[in-house]
Amino acid sequence: MAPRPYIVGNWKMNGMRSMLGEARAIDRAAQRLMKVEVALAPPFTLIHAVHREVEQIGVGAQDCHAGEDGPHTGDISATMVADAGAKFVILGHSERRQDHGETNELVRAKADAALGAGMRVILCCGEEESVRDGGTAEAFVLNQLRKSLPQMQSEADEIADRLTVAYEPIWAIGTGRTPTVAEVEAMHGAIRTLLIELYGETAGSDVRILYGGSVKPDNAAELMAAKNVGGALVGGASLTAESFLGIVLAT
Ligand code: PEP
Repeated sequence: MAPRPYIVGNWKMNGMRSMLGEARAIDRAAQRLMKVEVALAPPFTLIHAVHREVEQIGVGAQDCHAGEDGPHTGDISATMVADAGAKFVILGHSERRQDHGETNELVRAKADAALGAGMRVILCCGEEESVRDGGTAEAFVLNQLRKSLPQMQSEADEIADRLTVAYEPIWAIGTGRTPTVAEVEAMHGAIRTLLIELYGETAGSDVRILYGGSVKPDNAAELMAAKNVGGALVGGASLTAESFLGIVLAT
């Protein structure tokens, strides 16, 4: 059976305790919309609070350190976010790669740490506009994934459950611009082929590939219906229950 579509909200560096009501409203609606798996990644400071407020939706982190513990001032390990209630971690987001110089190798090390701590991983990839304009977007993204995806020896169903890929063209993030459905299908098809090569036919076919970049209630239905799109990673439109649930309902 094909896995359920997965809609994940990434609150980025937004969210005070006053936003817990949005998480509660999303959770209440998700209890009635069981055909879609819904999750939120609030900032570290709200993980525990959101985890305590919700029953149905998954709660995750937006990053973790690759090490176990020790002298890393300001960093937070995978076991620490898991202890706070996180069930998944978003890794390799373009904003982490750009703002913090995260390399593919570091992203892989973080993915290994998150999986080792018993969490699921959403691993992000995506090209700059100049790369797309130069006609090498597919090669760029596949190279990024080859170098940052974790090596997993688990059973196929466990790989498909614990690993999700998010394709997020950088030029579409927060800009209101999106690729065409044909462009999304071409990239997701290429990622699917790579996943099958790396993890085998069964697992590689079932790992969900999310699309991210300016997903809104009014474009969600078209994007979510595209071939090999298994859901969405949503930034700006996940900050209110109204717009986020508009996307969930359109899926
Ligand atoms: C993101 O950064 O993960 C994202 C998809 O942002 P937005 O939806 O705001 O484009």
